[in-house]
Parts: sequence; structure tokens; C-alpha cells
Amino acid sequence: MAENSCIFCRIAAGDAPSNIIYKDELAVAFTDVDPKAPSHVLIAPREHMDSLNDAARGDEPLLGHLLRLASKIANQIGIAETGFRTVVNTGEDGGQSVQHLHLHLLGGRKMTWPPG
Ligand code: 5GP
Ligand code: ZN
Repeated sequence: MAENSCIFCRIAAGDAPSNIIYKDELAVAFTDVDPKAPSHVLIAPREHMDSLNDAARGDEPLLGHLLRLASKIANQIGIAETGFRTVVNTGEDGGQSVQHLHLHLLGGRKMTWPPG
């Protein structure tokens, strides 16, 4: 997908509005426009990648960074102690609706298991 037509690329570049709560040279984190929990943050790499299916071995440090950011941001927004859920939806059966890799950070309520 061309970067200028990808909403998360546009958000990462500052070309589309969002509530950015964290950014660094590799990733941005912003609140989900349609939150599924009291706290719902999306963590996305600046570099476009359609999904986890496109992650190569060389992306392992980036993937680790995204996961570390989840705990760092959970701490920042005050849900680290009570707990949180991290989710990466992939493909049609995984329920992925935005084709730019992102990690969901959800908290502020008790989650159920298994997910729907
Ligand atoms: P997925 O379904 O791909 O795992 O997650 C995509 C998420 O992105 C959804 O939770 C949806 O609410 C959110 N989303 C879609 N478009 C936008 C947008 O333009 N801005 C923000 N902040 N979130 C978006
Ligand atoms: Zn993108």
C-alpha cells in the first residue's frame, strides 16, 4: 500500500490528526479513535509494514521495541499495576482492519477470555 494512502503512515508523519501520546524514532503511539476499553492505545512502527505476516528476521528488534513500548506506555498512562492486554490482529480471521502493523494496548477494565 502506498504510504500516502495509509492512515497510520499519515498519522506517524503528522499528516493526519491523532492524539499522539508517545513518539520516538521508530514508533508512534496514539489513542484509538473508537476505543474498546477505557484506555486503548495503538502502537505503530513509523515504517510501513502491512501486518505481522510481513515481518522479517531483521524486524525482530523493532517488534521487541513495540512490545517494550506497550509496558512503558502502560506505566505512563497508569494501567501497568492493574494490568493490560496487548493484541496484534493479523489478516481477515484475526480481525485486522487497518493494513499497517500495530499493537493494541488495552486497559482500565477487566478483560474477558477467550476473545471473540
Ligand atoms: P485492527 O482492527 O486493524 O486491529 O485495529 C485498527 C484500529 O484502528 C481499530 O481499533 C480502529 O478503531 C482504529 N482506527 C481506525 N482508523 C483510525 C484513525 O484514523 N485514527 C485512530 N486513532 N484510530 C483508528
Ligand atoms: Zn502505513
